[in-house]
Amino acid sequence: MTTQVGEEHVAGEVRSWIRANWDPDATVREWWRRLGESGWGFPTWPTEWYGKGVSGEVAGVVRRELARAGALDPPGGLGQGLGAPTLVAHATEDQKRRWLHGLATGAEAWCQLFSEPGAGSDLASLQTRAVRDGDEWVVNGQKVWTSGARQADRGMLLARTDVDMPKHRGITYFIIDIEQPGIEIRPLKQMNGGATFNEVFFTDARVAHANVVGEVGGGWTVAITTLAYERSGIGGGGLRAAAAPGEKAGFLDRRCVEVLAGEVADPEMSMASFFGNGAVLARSAATEMGRRDDPLVRQGVARIHAMYETARLNIQRAQAVVRSGGRPGPEGSTGKLVAANNMHAARDVAMGILGAHGMLAGDDAPLGASVQMLALSAHAISIAGGTNEVQHNIIGERVLGLPREPQVDRDVPFRDLKVGTQQRPT
Ligand SMILES: Cc1cc2nc3c(=O)[nH]c(=O)nc-3n(C[C@H](O)[C@H](O)[C@H](O)COP(=O)(O)OP(=O)(O)OC[C@H]3O[C@@H](n4cnc5c(N)ncnc54)[C@H](O)[C@@H]3O)c2cc1C
Repeated sequence: MTTQVGEEHVAGEVRSWIRANWDPDATVREWWRRLGESGWGFPTWPTEWYGKGVSGEVAGVVRRELARAGALDPPGGLGQGLGAPTLVAHATEDQKRRWLHGLATGAEAWCQLFSEPGAGSDLASLQTRAVRDGDEWVVNGQKVWTSGARQADRGMLLARTDVDMPKHRGITYFIIDIEQPGIEIRPLKQMNGGATFNEVFFTDARVAHANVVGEVGGGWTVAITTLAYERSGIGGGGLRAAAAPGEKAGFLDRRCVEVLAGEVADPEMSMASFFGNGAVLARSAATEMGRRDDPLVRQGVARIHAMYETARLNIQRAQAVVRSGGRPGPEGSTGKLVAANNMHAARDVAMGILGAHGMLAGDDAPLGASVQMLALSAHAISIAGGTNEVQHNIIGERVLGLPREPQVDRDVPFRDLKVGTQQRPT
């Protein structure tokens, strides 16, 4: 347990580091480099890999100090939130050396190439194939719902490398370069106006054997780590990106002060930014509509506040597991489920407060139509990172110890299965 003294000591250390290093006129690239290399950008990472090896609780103290100083947040995104901790757990020293610096300093953005048209909840049914060719693998297939693919430099790719093994055992985890002739990315338009998602098509795309994370055929174990960080990240609101990292996002050479002023706000990231702040929106809606004294509104806002606060405490419990040397486990599913329920409740309360104004869109709508955007985006959290039903299954089986869902195909070689979109034997 972190003591008050310990937290105060860290807060003092961060404050003096910020005094010496934070410069609103610096470029984002320079600030993120300083932050990443100092270890204060991602303090939960190991000390030898751009972190401080501290708990999530202490990392919260660091974030609070950065916010208090008005400093730009560290780079956020799937590479930083999911890729880096997966590398720390499973990658070789050479791979960590090659990729962790770029992630820590925001020079690189990564995407997650897991879901396919016929493999979402049943991810292990994925059909994208990788075939060995000397020092490389050749990839063919299709992914879908790939958030941020157009901004990404690399992707965490799951591909089938052995069709003779049962479905969970013939999958390999690669880090693939996105900029190459064999990869085509097509954006998917969402009903909230953004196009965060993409379809990604692989036609003889290439990835070096040196980019296999974990064992060939052992990708499922590595993927479980990524998914656990995804669930606990969404549950904790930690997958928000204040600003998307990477060269393609186009603001590494902007001054921090401009980014903070929102001059280069990225509408593509708007959906992710709602994952953590439903309670704030409900409260702001009450203020904006002059309804803070309405007893029913007060009741609704207080209920949402209590729900978010309870979720925060629940997250701390999950973080205690990680602190004692573990990785996020099934308790991440509880956090994610609760986060989805909370966001839906916040949407309903906030839209209720807006009343007929909730039908307006555009900048001159109350709160710049943020509540309407929440309403059009909130359902996404109950699907992303594993649907609510899948989280219920995980909690039932792995937390409550209920009987497992029957899995008749678990020990059948993949080539004999007719799964997902697979119409004919491969
Ligand atoms: C905001 C967002 C961002 C995303 N970003 C990415 C990304 O970057 N990379 C990526 O790879 N994927 C991403 N996804 C995809 C996401 O992981 C999948 O949508 C999710 O896993 C569900 O898969 P599916 O859409 O194929 O639905 P399906 O698996 O087809 O599910 C359809 C319905 O059946 C239910 N169902 C399925 N199996 C069971 C079961 N065993 N028990 C009970 N009910 C079941 C589901 O709950 C759901 O209601 C994203 C999704 C969203 C919404």
